[in-house]
Amino acid sequence: MPDDAATPPRNTKQGFATRMSHAGRAGTHAHGFVNPAVHRGSTVLYPNVQARKDLGAKRFDQVMTYGTAGGPTHYALEDVVAEIEGGTRTMIVGTGLAAVAVPLLAYLKAGDHCLVPDSVYGPARNLCEGLMKGWNIETTFYSPTIDEAGIAALMRPNTKVVYAESPGSHTFEMQDIPALARAAHAGGAKLLMDNTWGLKHFRPFEHGVDVSIQALTKYLVGHSDALLGSITVNTEEDWLIVRGAGSAMGHYASPDDVWLGLRGARTMAVRMVRQEQSGIEVAEWFEAQPQVLAVMHPALPSHPGHALWKRDFTGAASLFGVVFKPEFSEAEVWAMVDSLSLFGIGASWGGYESLALPTTGFVTRTATNPDAGGMMVRFHVGLEDPADLIADLGAAMARMGR
Ligand SMILES: *Cc1c(COP(=O)(O)O)cnc(C)c1O
Repeated sequence: MPDDAATPPRNTKQGFATRMSHAGRAGTHAHGFVNPAVHRGSTVLYPNVQARKDLGAKRFDQVMTYGTAGGPTHYALEDVVAEIEGGTRTMIVGTGLAAVAVPLLAYLKAGDHCLVPDSVYGPARNLCEGLMKGWNIETTFYSPTIDEAGIAALMRPNTKVVYAESPGSHTFEMQDIPALARAAHAGGAKLLMDNTWGLKHFRPFEHGVDVSIQALTKYLVGHSDALLGSITVNTEEDWLIVRGAGSAMGHYASPDDVWLGLRGARTMAVRMVRQEQSGIEVAEWFEAQPQVLAVMHPALPSHPGHALWKRDFTGAASLFGVVFKPEFSEAEVWAMVDSLSLFGIGASWGGYESLALPTTGFVTRTATNPDAGGMMVRFHVGLEDPADLIADLGAAMARMGR
């Protein structure tokens, strides 16, 4: 904690929006301004040599010793994210993918085994099948809808990590996180979870997760103008492992980007409410269209994972998939997406702007059937008026006919 103010005790009785307004402010005030300054820097000066020795020993404790240990801007965002996730400590890294890689590499070494859902974010799969495989770390991809007995049966003596992501990337399967946690812990493994979709809607540590991963690039930054990731833990033991690995690999985030993240956090609560409502409105509209086979949105009662979502989540992100009926060809679906005027075609999500991304043929599944029954398109609903989005979609779908 920076030395000029103490962090007030967390008040979990306050609402999320209140906490997002007040978290991460202690110790960041500069001349009375409400927001922290952007503290750029590599060198930090010590008053004397003894101080250098003393502070160096506390370098994982929000102590400014050198640029890579972070500064007040980083510490403010660390506190905000720890508050969102309900964890004790957070490390901010440069991208969401770095936040995936650091804990995987922190807990796994040569000869170890990890269990990863088939629906995992694609670049995480690449890490498992590429670098980690080369280092003799074996990955078994499992069906994301596996039950507790199923995951327990896949555990080996050398299984050190069970990885989870709920809902899954592109195909939106819901995972039974408490069941995974029980099986992982019974076998002596850690449960790591990519909680980017859940963000404020899923409290990972209340469901047995040991390490929670966020691509802050999404709703927290919220404006599609910076990349950031976070790794949050709930014990000192996990903190030393994760922070130690992140530091050993030189992970860091630009203070300018961190400042953009802090700015995003101040309005995130209202953006997420609006985007959740608009997302459900658009998803329900899709469900009523004759061209649509299924809508992959966990908040819709038709979703196979709806009961799990209802049990464990308090809300939904505005990111979901639409499966078109099998009579619609790839060319027809791509032409529909191309004709949209309010939806951009691009990766990422959580920003203020809507996106549409055909995903059939772009996602890899090796443990489960990749065929959803028709062409898939992933939609991200931004902050536009939902009536305008639906009008745009309606015009594009009308061109598909049938
Ligand atoms: C975007 C994303 C990431 C990676 O975040 P970047 O900041 O783009 O590296 C990781 N996990 C999920 C689920 C994501 O959607």
